[in-house]
Amino acid sequence: MKNFEWVQPETVADAVAALGHPGAMALAGGVDLLDRLKERLDSPSRLVSLRKLPNLSEIKVAGGVATIGANVTLARLAADPALQKSHRIISDAAGHAATPQLRAMATIGGNLAQRPRCWYFRSEEFVCRKKGGAECFAQEGDNSMHAVFDNKLCAATHPSTVVTALIALGARVTIAGAKAREVELASFFVKPETDVRREVDLASGELITGLSVPASAANLRTAYTKQVAKQSFDWPLVDVAVALVMDGQTCRQATIVLGAVAPTPRRAVEAERVLAGATVDVLAAGRAARAAIASASPLAHNDHKVQILETVLARTIMNAAAGRAS
Ligand SMILES: Cc1cc2nc3c(=O)[nH]c(=O)nc-3n(C[C@H](O)[C@H](O)[C@H](O)COP(=O)(O)OP(=O)(O)OC[C@H]3O[C@@H](n4cnc5c(N)ncnc54)[C@H](O)[C@@H]3O)c2cc1C
Repeated sequence: MKNFEWVQPETVADAVAALGHPGAMALAGGVDLLDRLKERLDSPSRLVSLRKLPNLSEIKVAGGVATIGANVTLARLAADPALQKSHRIISDAAGHAATPQLRAMATIGGNLAQRPRCWYFRSEEFVCRKKGGAECFAQEGDNSMHAVFDNKLCAATHPSTVVTALIALGARVTIAGAKAREVELASFFVKPETDVRREVDLASGELITGLSVPASAANLRTAYTKQVAKQSFDWPLVDVAVALVMDGQTCRQATIVLGAVAPTPRRAVEAERVLAGATVDVLAAGRAARAAIASASPLAHNDHKVQILETVLARTIMNAAAGRAS
């Protein structure tokens, strides 16, 4: 590992200034970044610890609106009683991520900005497109855990499962930098066709400070499912967040977000259209799930993910409509 400078600013302004240094990188819980240093994927000139930044470790729920600081851990997101009441699927998704030990360290800021877990990207042996190479090795290699949509240029999936729930509830991300800004979380992620070398819309010197999640609409019913291959901890085969504005058994508006199936979290707009105005029953949930997978383009070893997605999505729609926790 190359030597690096360590700095621990105590204000957001000082952190932004420290991150403007060439080769500087932000360090939060270190769950992802320290792995990447050990895997020799990154060799920063400076690590900027975010731990001492004030006010980034708070969760507030006021008037139904949740504000979540970037340094809040996944363990706290999962356990916060006010958030569980106001935006339950965020707590559900956080509580299903990783393991208890990792959730105690992992922050939501780092979770949004973590890099993909594609085994070719993570191995220093493979100089894939994400590292400036000319190839995506997953196209011809072992692609059993890879993307089944939008996978031609790069087949790595977005690693965060918490973002599916956040996007389904319309979260916005707040960013500090030369100019403070706030963007919809749904448009924060960068598609490989736009820039295959990065996954998030953060410029050098910018820092995620937190998230805000709007108050839930009246009659909103939600459900979240993370489908894994084994019962103990695992990365997802697929994960799904569903938010339905209901009028009795009729769906007025649907927001459906799919994770672990594309390089960025994917809105299932085709399924949302099927549900809008429909009575939500097993047949409608099945039609919506079929619409969601219609444009899938699985690779040689991952068409099982498409079938799993169809089943999990139909079940999660039914859970949401019935107001059942997944
Ligand atoms: C075994 C294992 C299982 C996992 N399972 C899941 C899972 O099921 N679901 C899931 O969602 N995740 C999962 N993860 C990923 C884990 O949740 C993330 O690695 C973690 O949330 C990263 O947060 P961190 O605070 O440790 O970030 P760090 O490792 O400190 O940083 C990660 C990246 O984000 C950048 N960064 C950190 N904070 C900020 C900020 N405020 N502003 C801008 N950039 C920032 C860093 O520079 C770095 O590039 C798993 C990880 C492991 C090791």
